[in-house]
Amino acid sequence: MSQGIWIFEEHDNRGTKNVTLELLSEGQKLARRLKEELCVCLLGYQVENFIPRLAEFGAEKIYLADGMQLSEYNLDAYVSILGGLIEIYQPSVLMMGATPTGSELGPRIAARYGLPCITEIKKIGGSSENFQVTKSVYNDRLYADVKPASARPLIITLPPGETDIVKPKKTAEPAVIKTEIKLDENVKRVRYNKFIKGDPKTIRVDEADLILALGNGVDSETLPVAHELADLLGATLGGTRVAVDKGLIPFERQIGLTGKTVLPNMLISCGISGAYEFTDGMKDSKMIIAINNDGKARIFEVANLGVKGDLKEIIPAVINKIKIHKQTSS
Ligand SMILES: Cc1cc2nc3c(=O)[nH]c(=O)nc-3n(C[C@H](O)[C@H](O)[C@H](O)COP(=O)(O)OP(=O)(O)OC[C@H]3O[C@@H](n4cnc5c(N)ncnc54)[C@H](O)[C@@H]3O)c2cc1C
Repeated sequence: MSQGIWIFEEHDNRGTKNVTLELLSEGQKLARRLKEELCVCLLGYQVENFIPRLAEFGAEKIYLADGMQLSEYNLDAYVSILGGLIEIYQPSVLMMGATPTGSELGPRIAARYGLPCITEIKKIGGSSENFQVTKSVYNDRLYADVKPASARPLIITLPPGETDIVKPKKTAEPAVIKTEIKLDENVKRVRYNKFIKGDPKTIRVDEADLILALGNGVDSETLPVAHELADLLGATLGGTRVAVDKGLIPFERQIGLTGKTVLPNMLISCGISGAYEFTDGMKDSKMIIAINNDGKARIFEVANLGVKGDLKEIIPAVINKIKIHKQTSS
């Protein structure tokens, strides 16, 4: 008997990545339809504290492999642990992000354990007996309806940033199945020497730690200072639909209902009224600072810290303070 819809968890030093929450959202629907349990494979070092967040997004069972040996991502170790779990528990489907990690891990596990693997899935359909997916071919220039020919477990990868993150209405305490990590020393065929931080200007807004969000209140006078502030803070730019329409940011940096859902450590909102269509995509940010000259703006309802004032005065004053702080602390 198959044992659930499995999600492969990905994290960085901030915690579980959005791509996992997207997979959990898609997984909830699939698990409901196939009447299966929604499970998460959580591998890494000191990752047990991620479990409450996974539960919040619907995880009913966690397969946990937590140990020093997994303090950094290692392809061979992950293939061996995940493959071992699949052999024992026989899930229906293992869902992974079509991320750099998921895209190498999924096909590698499939090849090693002789499992079907379908990558870059756009849509999941069909019934338990007649499972069918639509996948992208040639970078979305063509799509194909695909059916796994052999029995499950089936491995699928889904592109990140294409699924809305949805919390289930009810959540429960997930069961945790701890896995002993037994790794052969030779399992490390590749070593990571050093990690180099990505440029905040180019990373995706839904992957950013710190976001400076621009709205209609930003004009040609305040835009250059907003850029200067983002550079000084190492913040990634995002914003509202109006900011996109005004050409302040490109569409892929739009936050909200028809844009990206973001979960940064901090979001600084500049000249944004706080329409529901915007706040829906950013309200779960850990810390929200809002600058707006209208004390009644709705954005202040979701902000942890509200600054009532004109961007033309506030942003240069903040820049000044940061520069003084940097000079005195260097
Ligand atoms: C179906 C649908 C989907 C949508 N999807 C999205 C979406 O995904 N994302 C999104 O953002 N919107 C979306 N919208 C649009 C949304 O309804 C709002 O119109 C939009 O979010 C407003 O953007 P804003 O806050 O930048 O602009 P405004 O509402 O115009 O607010 C500008 C704010 O800036 C303040 N301000 C002005 N000048 C200054 C200054 N000098 N200093 C300080 N503050 C100043 C003003 O007081 C005001 O509060 C959608 C709308 C629809 C109908």
